[in-house]
Amino acid sequence: MDTTGIINERKIEELLNTGKQSSKIERLDVIEKAQDAQGLSLEDAAMLLEIEGEEEMNLLFEAAKVIKEKIYGKRIVVFTPLYTSNECQNNCLYCGFRVANKDLHRKTLCTSEIAHEAKAIENQGHKRILLVCGEDKKKTTIHHITEALQNIYQGTDIRRINVNAAPMSVEEFKKLKEVGIGTYQIFQETYHRETYKVMHPGGPKSNYDDRLHALGRAFEAGIDDFGIGVLFGLYDYRFDLLASLMHAEYMEENYSVGPHTISIPRLRPAMDSGLKETPYPITDEEFKKIVAVYRLALPYTGIILSTRESAELRDQLLSLGVSQISTGSKTSPGGNGKTDHEAQQFETSDERTLDEMVQVMCDQGHLPSFCTACYRKKRTGAAFMELAKDEHIHEFCEQNAILTLKENLLDYASDETVIKGEALINKALGEIRSSKIRSITRERLMEIENGKRDLYL
Ligand code: SAM
Ligand code: SF4
Repeated sequence: MDTTGIINERKIEELLNTGKQSSKIERLDVIEKAQDAQGLSLEDAAMLLEIEGEEEMNLLFEAAKVIKEKIYGKRIVVFTPLYTSNECQNNCLYCGFRVANKDLHRKTLCTSEIAHEAKAIENQGHKRILLVCGEDKKKTTIHHITEALQNIYQGTDIRRINVNAAPMSVEEFKKLKEVGIGTYQIFQETYHRETYKVMHPGGPKSNYDDRLHALGRAFEAGIDDFGIGVLFGLYDYRFDLLASLMHAEYMEENYSVGPHTISIPRLRPAMDSGLKETPYPITDEEFKKIVAVYRLALPYTGIILSTRESAELRDQLLSLGVSQISTGSKTSPGGNGKTDHEAQQFETSDERTLDEMVQVMCDQGHLPSFCTACYRKKRTGAAFMELAKDEHIHEFCEQNAILTLKENLLDYASDETVIKGEALINKALGEIRSSKIRSITRERLMEIENGKRDLYL
């Protein structure tokens, strides 16, 4: 399979070289232009990757914040991962689940264990799950995944399940679509072919092209809602960021839809890792730049921040364009009971609970959202992108965030969170411009207080 139509490494190197020669005036022009929220060309993004120094960085961060609020308003969507299995036939050097790790406590949850995990997650107050598993042709089959989805949807109040799992065939993707997958996530890890080869020495994942073409098969099966990502730290972040934008551009040109989400995992220590050190370490300042450049380049794409990052950095990143965060994450199967450190994929950093994170967001003026409306209203793929690009999506997002936060406060939150959350809801209501939408939202809040649930626009 030839992938040069997707990732052109020579072109990326050229863009990076041109970006290096950019002047401050050119970079400031790009930041200015980006605030129209129309996205950036690869040339423009390459220039922004050269930004250093407080003055330019602050302007970049400010622009990222403006764009995020223009498209999504103040809402930040919250979810948590559910690991169903740590069994894996691949040997990704960076991952604790790799086949060469003989000391890992291996486990694949059965249907009832998955239902139990999902219930524990629901009891924390979550409505969205990211289902994650290793790649094992016998254990983590399509049947394992689809059964998990069906059971969780039927047995809990979890309303949206996204999936991060190995690339599949068209037939398998069709089955995933049938059982109501939300977003299908697949990270290329690094788009740099040579590095990819070194990092993935065994198993089906060693096939770079198969991974890169997986989204085409997902589309063929009718899945138009997808997420991409780079595992930052494996290779030069500038190269990989530009390559991921090239991938997004390719999807948009060929399938008329860009990525629904971009994840920004950064390499963490893992048990029996095959990497003695991070090959391309990234500072926190560089990481913030990565988030901000993504926000300017792909204004309509959700940026997902995980608990791989520290509490301190996460609190800062909330204002730099991030639109979805995970909280209370465990990276081992069955992790929501007793944590088994010998079964983890990697070490998380931010251990705060959902309730604590809701408070942090309220303190910062962000609206924690448990909304799952778009997927159930069929606002996915091109339909979602159109709304986002016309900046209309926040008309739904803000109201749905208010309604789902209210549910959370009534059903799960601590007393302190309730006080903060109610104050935020009142403030957000006052900020709704349309008096009609404001009064509909008020009516629905009353209905929720009277016991109704799952109301959305
Ligand atoms: N096994 C499937 C795969 O690799 O595509 C599904 C999900 S894998 C469990 C989820 C993601 O975790 C990987 O795509 C990778 O980016 C990330 N990951 C693996 N090891 C990591 C580490 N040591 N630190 C941070 N992220 C890691
Ligand atoms: Fe397996 Fe995924 Fe870990 Fe690679 S990253 S070893 S495929 S679980």
